[in-house]
Amino acid sequence: MLRNDQLDQWDRENFLHPSTHLGQHARGESATRIISKASGVYIEDRDGTRLLDAFAGLYCVNAGYGRTEVADAIADQARELAYYHSYVGHGTEASITLAKMIMDRAPAHMSKVYFGLSGSDANETNIKLIWYYNNILGRPEKKKIISRWRGYHGSGLMTGSLTGLELFHKKFDLPLSQVIHTEAPYYYRRQDDSMSEEQFSAHCAAELEALIEREGADTIAAFIGEPVLGTGGIVPPPAGYWQAIQAVLEKHDILLVADEVITGFGRLGTMFGSEHYGLKPDFITIAKGLTSAYAPLSGSIVSDKVWKVLEQGTDENGPIGHGWTYSAHPICAAAGVANLKLIDDLGLVANAGSVGGYLNAAMKDALGDHPNVGDVRGEGLLCAVELVEEKATRKALDPTRKVTASIVSAMVEQGVIARVMPQGEIIGFAPPFCLSQGEADKIVDATTQAIKATLG
Ligand code: PLP
Repeated sequence: MLRNDQLDQWDRENFLHPSTHLGQHARGESATRIISKASGVYIEDRDGTRLLDAFAGLYCVNAGYGRTEVADAIADQARELAYYHSYVGHGTEASITLAKMIMDRAPAHMSKVYFGLSGSDANETNIKLIWYYNNILGRPEKKKIISRWRGYHGSGLMTGSLTGLELFHKKFDLPLSQVIHTEAPYYYRRQDDSMSEEQFSAHCAAELEALIEREGADTIAAFIGEPVLGTGGIVPPPAGYWQAIQAVLEKHDILLVADEVITGFGRLGTMFGSEHYGLKPDFITIAKGLTSAYAPLSGSIVSDKVWKVLEQGTDENGPIGHGWTYSAHPICAAAGVANLKLIDDLGLVANAGSVGGYLNAAMKDALGDHPNVGDVRGEGLLCAVELVEEKATRKALDPTRKVTASIVSAMVEQGVIARVMPQGEIIGFAPPFCLSQGEADKIVDATTQAIKATLG
């Protein structure tokens, strides 16, 4: 086995890491952690440190680590048939079965699923299909996409544009001109304190409608949003938000893309966030929880309404000019089939709902009165603690103090991994669905102790 210092040196010399301060990492100025194994909700590094992963990797190891059912399905598929493509109508037992399992779980008005490999490429597919859709319908001007500030939809050229976080635009010449952003449904950071949640939702819908009218509804193709804002701060929508937004979209004949990369397959305690909040999307983006990250796989689910136009398009123009070599890769599909079956067999969606409710309530109880905790919010197994300088005024902490990063480091000392969300002073939690109440208590204790040790 290679020595840790050897791996550390090779890492810093050779590996360009995503979402990393490249200079500091290469120069050895920032810590690194080499993960070697994992089981349930725990990961272990090469030094033997065992940590409760309260972020499920990147909100993705939903079924938990070390699931032999999924590992065996991957190995069996690799031995039997490692690869065949899905172009020109080809399929495998795994990919066809998985498509059926997805459509059995999706809202009734959805029609078919296209397979990709990541949330980013699935959203890329969605936008291409939306442009194709409007070209087939003879409205070539209707192409702009509205996203929200603080939305996260990936980090490609189009998807990085859809993402509404500064870090993903700055110095990358993004967003592209076809993408425009509207207000985030971030009730805690509302401008007007006197607004109720419902009034704030109505305000967000009015802002959206004003933007559509400024741009011209005949130039706007679609609106994309996560049922619960994820990477932008784990922000559940205020009461009435999705109803108000959907009324505007319907009025102006604008398609809705529900990006369910985080919420799909159970994180909110329901199979889809669309079901949870009463969304009727034209596209649903899925990824992470589809295989619980045992293999890279994503999907674009299209509605009956969209499907009919796609069918018309290929009748008029020939085969759809879109596809990846690894679309519906059989090894990934086998992982998906085993994972969705496991989630059903173990009742993990219900567990995400009940333990998620417990975690959120316990976090509020423990921290709701702390003078530097402005907001504790969440839904299902998503939870966030937002830190402030002053509770009453919601005054922000000085970002140069890097308080949230210090707290999250202190939590690692307590044996728990949480995430510093990229914009604002927000600690994020998104544990695997197999979390127990005892493990939820451990997360809350570690957070409380780390906040008290850092801020008093
Ligand atoms: N959409 C949402 C809501 C996400 O949270 C993410 C990733 O976190 C993506 C899209 C992009 O997925 P990927 O990182 O697999 O490209």
